Amino acid sequence: MPGAATFPTSRTAVLTGAASMRGIGRATADRLAAQGWSIAILDLSGDDATAAAETISRERGVQAIGVRVDVSDQASVDTAIATVEKSMPPIVGLSNLAGISSPTPFMETTVEEWDKVFATNMRGTFIVSQRVLGGMIARRLGRIVSISSISAQRGGGTYSKIAYSASKAAIIGFTRALAREVGEFHITVNAIAPGPIDTDIMGGTLTDDRKAQLADGILVGRIGTTDDVAALTTFLMGEDAGFITAATYDINGGLQVS
Ligand code: NAP
Repeated sequence: MPGAATFPTSRTAVLTGAASMRGIGRATADRLAAQGWSIAILDLSGDDATAAAETISRERGVQAIGVRVDVSDQASVDTAIATVEKSMPPIVGLSNLAGISSPTPFMETTVEEWDKVFATNMRGTFIVSQRVLGGMIARRLGRIVSISSISAQRGGGTYSKIAYSASKAAIIGFTRALAREVGEFHITVNAIAPGPIDTDIMGGTLTDDRKAQLADGILVGRIGTTDDVAALTTFLMGEDAGFITAATYDINGGLQVS
């Protein structure tokens, strides 16, 4: 079996759900760009994705592109990744960040809401990973990092409830099974399970009171920042992380033991 390709100096990281200004994906794109990655931002709003890419390109001096995608739609993903493959350096990294929350109690959850949450959080992760993997397998190198949640491990407990928890738990099984299939191609597949992070996904921008409530039980006494998560993803995408695969990283200030 041939060895891994050299980690190229010119390489692209694809990040889904990375256009939102205060989101984890945006901070991750910025950190990766600072490490020299070319950046592809894929999000529901093509305008926001393009604006984010332009800012990153200007501030970090790297090639960046913003493309509209609905991760739950295979044709949309195919078009978006084809655009990236045509105009950017080889895709070495993928972070599946596109996600939606779901604070609905179980007995009020409709099949429509259940399907929408799974279509974005889980099916989207499947579709994008499969589309990107063809090139990674051919090049014998890749890093996939998907965002699960502490909700998968604790059964909610912060904002979202069962549909979200179940979809994020599915990402952990997906990660382990995919890592098993693509390890021989020197492709690593990992998940990150963040605790509460200061973004707008939990029903809007968090007030200081809500941040304090959410920090209750977090051993380090605060909720997480987007940069906390970005730093971990950047490490897992990097050259030095080639022996880490099928792992799920807790990043929650110790909430998992409280
Ligand atoms: P965010 O700012 O809302 O980011 C989510 C992004 O995904 C948004 O830009 C959203 O676009 C996009 N998106 C939604 N549906 C999509 C679709 N079908 N196709 C493409 N893009 C889509 O929230 P975030 O907190 O940074 O979340 C990033 C990831 O981390 C999510 O998977 C989330 O579940 C996970 N996470 C977050 C926390 C937390 O506390 N913040 C904790 C654990 C895990 P629109 O804004 O246009 O809808």
